[in-house]
Amino acid sequence: MKLYNTLTRRKDEFVPLVPGKVGIYTCGPTVYLFAHIGNFRAYVFADTLRRVLEYLGYEVKHVMNVTDVGHLTSDEDTGEDKLDKEARLEGKKPEEIAQFYEQAFFADAAKLSILRPNVVCRATEHIPEMIELVRRIEANGFAYRTAVGLIFDTGKYPEYALLSRLNLAEQQAGARTRVDPERRNPSDFALWITNQPNHLMQWDSPWGRGFPGWHVECSAMSIKYLGERFDIHTGGIDHIPVHHTNERAQNFAATGKEVVVHWMHNAFLVIGDARMGKSEGNLVTVSELEKRGVSPAGFRYLCQTALYRMPLSFTAESLSSAQNSLRGLVDFGRNAQGWPVKDAAWTEPYRQEFKDAVADDMNIPQGLAAVWSLVREGNQRQDRAAWDAILDFDRVLGLGLGKLSETQVHEYKVSDSSNVTIAVRFVASPPGTPAEVVALAEKRQAARDARDWDAADHLRRDILDRGYVVEDTKDGCSVKPRP
Ligand SMILES: [Zn+2]
Repeated sequence: MKLYNTLTRRKDEFVPLVPGKVGIYTCGPTVYLFAHIGNFRAYVFADTLRRVLEYLGYEVKHVMNVTDVGHLTSDEDTGEDKLDKEARLEGKKPEEIAQFYEQAFFADAAKLSILRPNVVCRATEHIPEMIELVRRIEANGFAYRTAVGLIFDTGKYPEYALLSRLNLAEQQAGARTRVDPERRNPSDFALWITNQPNHLMQWDSPWGRGFPGWHVECSAMSIKYLGERFDIHTGGIDHIPVHHTNERAQNFAATGKEVVVHWMHNAFLVIGDARMGKSEGNLVTVSELEKRGVSPAGFRYLCQTALYRMPLSFTAESLSSAQNSLRGLVDFGRNAQGWPVKDAAWTEPYRQEFKDAVADDMNIPQGLAAVWSLVREGNQRQDRAAWDAILDFDRVLGLGLGKLSETQVHEYKVSDSSNVTIAVRFVASPPGTPAEVVALAEKRQAARDARDWDAADHLRRDILDRGYVVEDTKDGCSVKPRP
């Protein structure tokens, strides 16, 4: 099997450290909000990776963390803890926020047939392990104290930028908002944060009462559950320049080793030319998709139509087409169940094609091509052997075809009107666009969809008054700062 490795920037032959066994660590959700389908692309990817490895006969131990402390609203060790902030907003305890959104996350994950990882570990339940890891980092001479707390000295690790391949100028640019004059290098980051009396979650430590920096939990928990050298670490490409770069530096500082063998990253789900995310104002959750007539399996099918390393275009058209393909597959299954198995031998080349495709850096789109070849030839031969092969492939695809062939997918209808509703969401905006402007653009799009041209025109002028121009696109509209 070959897997692309972000660290080496090439497809490497995958050889597990222990024959027949694979350890995978996946950066999990920060549980202060509902996860959106952009987040879920990353989890569908990690789940599919696990399924591919199991399909190829490996025994997999999949570990995923749940971030319930220490993830600040900015990557630069400034801003508030996301959990703390949400707790204040909702007038609840951080634990209540964490519990609620963690449950919601796993409920949505289950709808998407994402298998529950073998180990799910919460940051707040691993504070002693984190303190121990930071203690080792400090003892090895990779940390110094400032008024903020204990800081990692990235200058001590010559390979710091190897994963991100960023040069120093880019790192400096990335750290432009950092105002801490005590830092030795712009890329230095907090291991333990002290002197934050308003922070709700605090623990005693050798460096004073406080809380861990966000990156510490993933190093501490991956090493605890998978050891000081393990096979695969996954996450979205947004984690490469800061979170995973810092994890890797901590790993080395604590253990003297390159802990992770393969780093694997999925590309974004994109709407127009904008990535889906909270700051872009285009969040869609699994429940919202369902309300718009898209089955979770339809969304999962869409995820499987693109290579994980390529951006996945999310439009009303691409969704509709994925859902229609899935329905076509289910209809084929219903027919095929009434046929006899005549001769399984003719399916063998397709089984081989599928296996080769998924073993080649998880080329699931190529695997889907084998599925549709089976559908075509199965229809000609009227042979259930085709469906049996497809059900076998579904161990990787995770579309739940065994169950879907009963009734489920037909309960979902992506009608023309629901396409229009989905289109309301397609407001592309550059990062940093005020939420108010995005909201106005969404309202304007809704007005256009309803053919209320007067209202749409008023809203366009409101947007202009705020310094932004709106342009209509194939999938909705985009807002940009006024030139
Ligand atoms: Zn992580």
